[in-house]
Amino acid sequence: MVAHSEKSISLYEIEESLAELLSARDEVTADLRYMEVNTIDPQDYADKQKESVEVERLLVEYGERAVLKVDGWHSAIRRMETDLVAEKEEKAAISARISRTEGTLKRLKAIGVEIMRKFDKKALVGTAGRKLSRCGNGGIQPLDIQGWDAENEKWCYPYPILPAEFQDVVVRMPLDMYFACGMDSRCTEISRQPANGRIREALAQPCPTCGGTAQGLHCDDCNDTGKASVPGASLAIRGEHLRLS
Ligand SMILES: [Zn+2]
Repeated sequence: MVAHSEKSISLYEIEESLAELLSARDEVTADLRYMEVNTIDPQDYADKQKESVEVERLLVEYGERAVLKVDGWHSAIRRMETDLVAEKEEKAAISARISRTEGTLKRLKAIGVEIMRKFDKKALVGTAGRKLSRCGNGGIQPLDIQGWDAENEKWCYPYPILPAEFQDVVVRMPLDMYFACGMDSRCTEISRQPANGRIREALAQPCPTCGGTAQGLHCDDCNDTGKASVPGASLAIRGEHLRLS
């Protein structure tokens, strides 16, 4: 009988070796599959099979050694499960606090802008150089799509006025079907959304009835704006925001 002390292995070592063995098994399995469908030297195939058997043997051996650490493993998992629950609760509480603060901040700023607008003031001056100013939002004009909740990115009702050519659809389909550009029952619709880029492009075009000039006559189609229209879509007025200085 050979006297040898059972070398104790740490949990970390078990995890590392296990991960290595599992990826080795994946590699060997993939190699074997490749060899089965391709012409290769029978000796190479036999070697690969031996390798596969060895990896499986090592996996069993590691499993047996890991069992020796069962208490450590057990308590580590239990501890992590408890930690995870506490951490998720903490995350939810923080998220709730963040949205409350965001909401209050938004309201406070909106009230500031509203009051200044009411009294037709561009700015309100406090003490020690503190100042609140009303500034026009930069960037592009916001797009207003009837029935589309832009903040939550969803439709408020199922049949939008917006024509199909101005909507994008996200679908899931097999790649071969995608290549063939076909549609059949294997195609699943995931979501629909306004095609903002195409809508803006269309709205920037001149009115097709008056050619964008209205020619001094009243144009019912564009209401003398000279711009083309898209049913259910319009450009909104740029809003204002509050600036602190
Ligand atoms: Zn017109």
